[in-house]
Amino acid sequence: MILDDLAAIVGAGHVLGREQIETRAIDFWSSDATRALGLVRPASTAEVSAILALCHARGQVVIPEGGRTNLVRGTEAEPDHILLSLERMSRIGEIAADSGWVEVEAGAVLQRLQDHAAGQELRVGLDLGARGSATIGGLLAMNAGGVQVMRYGSARAQVLGLEVVLADGTVLEHLTPYAKDNTGYDLKQLFIGSEGTLGIITRAVLRLHPQPISVQTAFLAFEEFGPIPKLLGTLSRGLAGTLSSFEVIWRDFYDLNTEEGRLRAPVRRGLPYYVLCEAEGFEPEADAARFERLIVEAMEAGAVDAAIAQSVAQRDAFWRIREDFEAEMALFSEMGDFDVSLALEDMESFGRDLARAVDEQLPGHSGLHVFGHMGDGNLHVAIGLPSKDKKPIAERIVYDLVAARRGAISAEHGIGLSKRDWLGRSRSQAEIAAMAAIKSVLDPQNILNPGKIFRAAGSAPV
Ligand SMILES: Cc1cc2nc3c(=O)[nH]c(=O)nc-3n(C[C@H](O)[C@H](O)[C@H](O)COP(=O)(O)OP(=O)(O)OC[C@H]3O[C@@H](n4cnc5c(N)ncnc54)[C@H](O)[C@@H]3O)c2cc1C
Repeated sequence: MILDDLAAIVGAGHVLGREQIETRAIDFWSSDATRALGLVRPASTAEVSAILALCHARGQVVIPEGGRTNLVRGTEAEPDHILLSLERMSRIGEIAADSGWVEVEAGAVLQRLQDHAAGQELRVGLDLGARGSATIGGLLAMNAGGVQVMRYGSARAQVLGLEVVLADGTVLEHLTPYAKDNTGYDLKQLFIGSEGTLGIITRAVLRLHPQPISVQTAFLAFEEFGPIPKLLGTLSRGLAGTLSSFEVIWRDFYDLNTEEGRLRAPVRRGLPYYVLCEAEGFEPEADAARFERLIVEAMEAGAVDAAIAQSVAQRDAFWRIREDFEAEMALFSEMGDFDVSLALEDMESFGRDLARAVDEQLPGHSGLHVFGHMGDGNLHVAIGLPSKDKKPIAERIVYDLVAARRGAISAEHGIGLSKRDWLGRSRSQAEIAAMAAIKSVLDPQNILNPGKIFRAAGSAPV
């Protein structure tokens, strides 16, 4: 029995059987019970290697999991699959404070690493709402984005070195702490964003950045979309490289979150577009003066209302308007949610065409919310569906509009099972075939998270 053989590798206490995991929810979003043969918790790279060698020899499917916070059914298993959790591999190494890097095991939770780095006045270049549960392995496997991408890039850009165990147990160790490395193919980038389908990430060397000491945050309201991309350009140039966030919010989401009894509206309600922007720097007085001057200029260049946060509490209140989904979840009992990338030039027409299509094709819907990390070209869309069975209509509406603009059907949340059948809207059949070919070389038995991103025999576009 495979569970006994796994227990011989990691110790009996670190293998859980079907009965012990079936009371556990599948992931952050699904309260359905976990279905799997069992769960194994290795404590070292050597144990991960031995587990995979065994599973490779037996043709046993393995589903890697971190904090299970992904939004795309990426850790969903079948009853005969083995789950592999990295939770016992969570060590954080000593920080190299002057050169700015740290070696960390894949099971370490992001927030622990952030706190550790903050103790040395350094910052991890990754931050997102799931920071308290998401692990470094999961974040890298998903190439996660979040609220700091404008400044530091996505997860991909944070990695200096990586250690990965291949499906047959081979260990690829390249834990280098320097930025320049032109010694052949950059293999680490193949595994970052591969959603657990090409190898198990066991350790990483991550960049750390100096922790900014000043922060300025503003909310602005606009009658028209036109001045917003211009403002982004002005702030990017004028803020001496300190612009760290530029979020756009369409009216319905702002108005919902600032309804009476909810959050206080910092700028007038009922206008078509809102921008929340933030700069973080190292010279508090000069940073504040520069920021204020540019916000005043924005008022002259098309904004119809603006407010600058005067305290940390006010800054946090501004961000809650963007990040609070309680009202939305209460309003949309059945929701279609999307995470797309578009050129800035296409965002206005996308929003307009989307609203029209939703009204026409989803009669009885309970609303449409559009907002997102505009500075990264990333919009999030939430549609209140009239009923659950209408989700494919919403998907078709959104993905057709995205494909027509050569956008990405996933900006930062990945593909998993949820978006697999729509991958052809963003990637050509030749590209998907190339991905499948890489998968078959690195995982010839198809044991690592099979069926995620694309089907084994090539994707079936809809
Ligand atoms: C409240 C909330 C806010 C979020 N905000 C954002 C956001 O702003 N931006 C964003 O990009 N994402 C966001 N996410 C989703 C984000 O993708 C995940 O939070 C994170 O990347 C997953 O980390 P995890 O440890 O939970 O991985 P899991 O969910 O456990 O796994 C994710 C995937 O990676 C694979 N995997 C896990 N560990 C490994 C490993 N060690 N080696 C190889 N494969 C592995 C799994 O098989 C799975 O396919 C958010 C999620 C939540 C719940």
